[in-house]
Amino acid sequence: MTTSTYAIAIGSNRRGRHGGPAAAIRAAIAALQGVSAVAPVIGSAPLGPSLRRYANTAVLIDSDLSPPALLIRLKAIEQAFGRRRGRRWGSRVLDLDIVLWSGGCWSGPGLTVPHISFRERDFVLGPLVRIAGDWRDPVSGRTVRHLHHLVDRARPRD
Ligand code: ATP
Ligand code: MG
Ligand code: MG
Repeated sequence: MTTSTYAIAIGSNRRGRHGGPAAAIRAAIAALQGVSAVAPVIGSAPLGPSLRRYANTAVLIDSDLSPPALLIRLKAIEQAFGRRRGRRWGSRVLDLDIVLWSGGCWSGPGLTVPHISFRERDFVLGPLVRIAGDWRDPVSGRTVRHLHHLVDRARPRD
């Protein structure tokens, strides 16, 4: 049995049984097994109704599970938190995505690791750089720190 390390992105933008998004994220971290590092939680200021607030973070976990087995576990946690089937990117109590795996790349039905969109996402890379800056994306060959730098630089400022 081999133990792998995974980087998991955690997001919430809707109230659930644990409270608001930040509370959902704390509870989700408690529900995960093998957590070895937790990034700070970042959030947006509520722009409109408080339902629109979101919070994101990232964690590292050590696990004996294969990527698809871990995804099944993550989806079970999402369901337990009250996530409903709905549109992708819709508002949700909890989103748990596999961003990186120490085993490298995985591609199968319904699962691609590294996560297909993480390189463009400040809300993933911002937290992740705090706990895994040196982790090298096997697809682009760039470190998380480098990828974060690239999205951070591209972000419009006022
Ligand atoms: P995005 O994946 O763009 O962040 P999302 O997280 O809102 O969107 P979901 O509704 O959570 O999308 O998941 C849609 C499907 O994506 C899942 O059913 C899952 O099978 C698939 N998927 C593919 N790769 C991954 C991954 N690396 N981590 C989590 N889910 C993945
Ligand atoms: Mg997602
Ligand atoms: Mg998801």
